[in-house]
Amino acid sequence: MRFVLLRLLAVVAVLALAGAAVAYWLGPTAGLALACALAVGVIAFDTLARARLLEWLRFPQRDTVPQSPGVWGEVFYRSARQLRLWQNRVQREENKLSRFIEALQASPNGVMLIDEHGQIDWCNATAAGHFGLDPQRDMRQHAVHLIRNPEFVAYLAARQFAEPLLMRRNGSHGTVLLSVQVIPYGDGDKLLLSRDVTQLERTEAMRRDFVANVSHEIKTPLTVIAGFVESLRTLEFSADERERILELMQQQSDRMRQLVEDLLTLAHLEGDPHQPAEELLDMPGVVARLAADARALSAGRHRIETSADVSKLRGASSELASAFGNLVSNAVRYTPNGGVIQIRWRLLESGLGEAIGEFSVSDTGIGIAAEHIPRLTERFYRVDRGRSRESGGTGLGLAIVKHALLRHQAELRIVSQMGEGSTFSARFPAQRLVLPQPEATSEPVAAHPA
Ligand code: ADP
Repeated sequence: MRFVLLRLLAVVAVLALAGAAVAYWLGPTAGLALACALAVGVIAFDTLARARLLEWLRFPQRDTVPQSPGVWGEVFYRSARQLRLWQNRVQREENKLSRFIEALQASPNGVMLIDEHGQIDWCNATAAGHFGLDPQRDMRQHAVHLIRNPEFVAYLAARQFAEPLLMRRNGSHGTVLLSVQVIPYGDGDKLLLSRDVTQLERTEAMRRDFVANVSHEIKTPLTVIAGFVESLRTLEFSADERERILELMQQQSDRMRQLVEDLLTLAHLEGDPHQPAEELLDMPGVVARLAADARALSAGRHRIETSADVSKLRGASSELASAFGNLVSNAVRYTPNGGVIQIRWRLLESGLGEAIGEFSVSDTGIGIAAEHIPRLTERFYRVDRGRSRESGGTGLGLAIVKHALLRHQAELRIVSQMGEGSTFSARFPAQRLVLPQPEATSEPVAAHPA
């Protein structure tokens, strides 16, 4: 404003001086004419400069700043400088905003901003995935119009956001369980955080089942033992009856001890992240020892056959002994008297020409129906609970096998035919094998009737 007034005063002063000078020399008419001509010239120049300024301000660019002599040059220069400062500031703010949005996009949790009218302002890709939204199309839509889950609608309406909401949603990959937490902020705005807790919930359910199973497995023999103790205290028994009761008590306590041992083995296999100390196991020797154990367990009820290719397997001997031992004891326990059990170690070739070591136990036992096979390695999963318990099973054997093999990069395969028998095999990769020198030969298949 001050600038305009000063400029007006200067123009008027110049015109008055010029007009007065010309009027003094050439008379008042000429002075007035000159003053008018100068005024018109100044006004035209100003108008032109103003028009150029306005034109430039429509699309201000740094490299198209108009040039002009005098005061208008200063105006253009200052406007351009101001514009540059402003553009730099906007650029800085935009960079900050886009980094902020990138961070929110990278968040593994869903983030959604809901305004005071309940409309979605913004959401990241994770939130869009959780709620089946389109991050572009669905902006400015009412959240409850798009997320129609009744629990979610009630949660937003109740405005009690201290606890998160657990809601189930049917997504393209099945049902997911979401934990949704709303945090109010600003003037009625809401920050909504969502987390997929499906896996967490599954793990928690498994933990609960596990604790319930362990308690049940321990409670049963304890109840039996407590009953016998009570009977021995209160009733009269003959020496033979006492002996029989003590034997049954012994069986129950053996069962509990076996369960605790299996639980400790499983806890070690599942929870110990360290690679076990490894040794080279001479496999024909391992197979021979397993056969001896099988014969002891079978007590002459089965025929035990073995075969083993000469080679060594690199691994933790206690873990592998536990895995192999469980497969062998299962074969004995689930094969009726007179059946045949084969314990084998073979060197095979993979499709890529690499060596594979296969340990397998085949039996001619009761077999397993196909629908049970995928679940056999779950803890406490049994096809026939009664038969498993009767034969001293804890329901943890194959879970131990699975974890021990996993730690050795080996793969468990189960092939079974109801009423005909089963084959459990573990395949070990080439890097775990030490193959015999070319002159060494394979041990012949040996059948050892029990
Ligand atoms: P368990 O202690 O009950 O034997 P496992 O985990 O070793 O527990 O085995 C799980 C279930 O798999 C067993 O309860 C049994 O039903 C089945 N199973 C395992 N091995 C065999 C086998 N060789 N023949 C038939 N069924 C088997």
